[in-house]
Amino acid sequence: MIVGIDLGTTHSLIAIPNEEGGATLVPNVFGDFLTPSVVSLDCDDSVLVGQPAHDRLITHPDRSISCFKRDMGTDRKYRLDIGRIFRPEELSALILKSLKADAEHFLGQAVEEAVISVPAYFSDAQRKATRVAGELAGLRVSRLINEPSAAALAYGLHKNMDEATFLVFDLGGGTFDVSILEMFDGVMEVRATAGNNRLGGEDFLEIILRDFHEQLANQGVELSNLHLQDLSRLRALAEFSKIKLSNESAVETPVVIGNREVILAYNRPRFEEQSRRLMRLLRDPLERAIKDARLPVDELSDVVLVGGATRMPMIPTFAAHIFRRFPKSDINPDQAIALGTAIQAGLKMKHKAYRERVMTDVAPYTLGIQVCDFLTPNDVDKRVFSPIIDRNTPVPVSRTETYSTMYLGQDQVKISVYQGESRSVNKNLFLGEILMPVPKNMDEPEPIEVRFSYNVDGILEVEAKSLSSGEMRSLVVEKSPGTLSKEQIKKSLRDLEALKIHPRDQVVNRTLLSRGERMFEQCIGKDRKRVNEAISRYRAALASQDSGLIDQIRKEVIRVFDEIDAFKPI
Ligand code: AMP
Repeated sequence: MIVGIDLGTTHSLIAIPNEEGGATLVPNVFGDFLTPSVVSLDCDDSVLVGQPAHDRLITHPDRSISCFKRDMGTDRKYRLDIGRIFRPEELSALILKSLKADAEHFLGQAVEEAVISVPAYFSDAQRKATRVAGELAGLRVSRLINEPSAAALAYGLHKNMDEATFLVFDLGGGTFDVSILEMFDGVMEVRATAGNNRLGGEDFLEIILRDFHEQLANQGVELSNLHLQDLSRLRALAEFSKIKLSNESAVETPVVIGNREVILAYNRPRFEEQSRRLMRLLRDPLERAIKDARLPVDELSDVVLVGGATRMPMIPTFAAHIFRRFPKSDINPDQAIALGTAIQAGLKMKHKAYRERVMTDVAPYTLGIQVCDFLTPNDVDKRVFSPIIDRNTPVPVSRTETYSTMYLGQDQVKISVYQGESRSVNKNLFLGEILMPVPKNMDEPEPIEVRFSYNVDGILEVEAKSLSSGEMRSLVVEKSPGTLSKEQIKKSLRDLEALKIHPRDQVVNRTLLSRGERMFEQCIGKDRKRVNEAISRYRAALASQDSGLIDQIRKEVIRVFDEIDAFKPI
């Protein structure tokens, strides 16, 4: 069985291909499809993943981590209280392991292979890091699929469309992707894709957070004295307000900050006003995708919204304004990507029900090397970008270009690989380099052939060949920044293996206690007392080890918590 996984910035989901040619979402241990992409260390140093970890972001911010997808492909390290350092791919691996366990429980069989979605605009290093995360979780990653393509796959099948051209507008927690797809006779083809891999719902949250800080300062709260816990509580309140403002025009919440109760208020017009700069950033990828697809906006059959952040009313309004029609969100925007990954898994398995469909994708950005431009014999621009694979070329693709040495007698060349759209490599993203000897030639420049192969996973292979000596070199990917070497992966596998993972059968109890602890911190007065009593009753029931009593008290405690909790689990 190959499963499909949407490894999101804020939430992750797992789904499996089904007999009807569609996909089925797999519930986690709480019966939810969304598992928060959060990792936390419990007091006994065992790892908690998902909802309990999400609650602990507030009560134990020093032992809990979220949003690490944003750092995939970088060398960023996260330190957790036990002195253990985690890389973003290791934290992602813990999420994947938890999803894998959910699917194994659901299916009653081992799961070893997965299709995982990545933002279309993820760079080479970010994609490689996602593959490594899969490997660390014990999953063979049979394919990485671009998130909007996965969403389109789910959407195209859902609508049972034969012929259509549509735009997927995907605004998740941390990334923004736009793809234009054409569906014709069972073939789904990506015509163009564009995006910004550092723009998402989290940035909108920061706007509210900044406003809250200002409000606190105006109410005389000394911001520099705030504790980590106060800051986490504020962040949770900003997230809560953001989500509430999707349905209501204003929010007003009392909160205890620095041992003082203050009221923080916010409203939709203010939010929209303060979000103008972010809304402007959405425009550029949209315009670029439309231009690259060479398609008049009027010819789009549908505009489809996916990603949780498209629930903010300003997003459909903005899309309607640009596309002169109301966007669709027929499939739950949180689930579309996961369903699409599982459909891709079904296609990969050559499952009977999936035989008729083909999906093709494109390279989301231009790939090339650094060259020198001789303006005059004595004036050389050394940082010029020479594209080899243009953005939005259908993949897989292999392209070759021939270059030559700069000077007579040169005996070595350095081939620096970049991705991006700027003429100057300074503004593009460096991916890695190749050093290669060339025969010393005093008569004429030596020719060098550079081949770029870009596969369906969006991973690049570069090969350079000196044409007169036949000598070849390929890009040593292990050395590119933000990527783990084979030895590092082995060590990381051992380290993760040694971690204590919280036992699955106790997760429900642990989660309810985490929720209670979080609510205790957030509430005051009568509510706090009720939460405290409920926690005590629940602890006593757990200590009795009487499963009937535990079940009964758990239900009562959940009821009490639901009545009080403004930050109900999503
Ligand atoms: P995704 O990566 O697709 O799970 O999207 C997660 C992002 O969507 C997060 O930034 C959430 O805060 C945001 N989000 C989820 N639901 C809502 C909502 N109802 N209103 C506004 N933002 C939301």
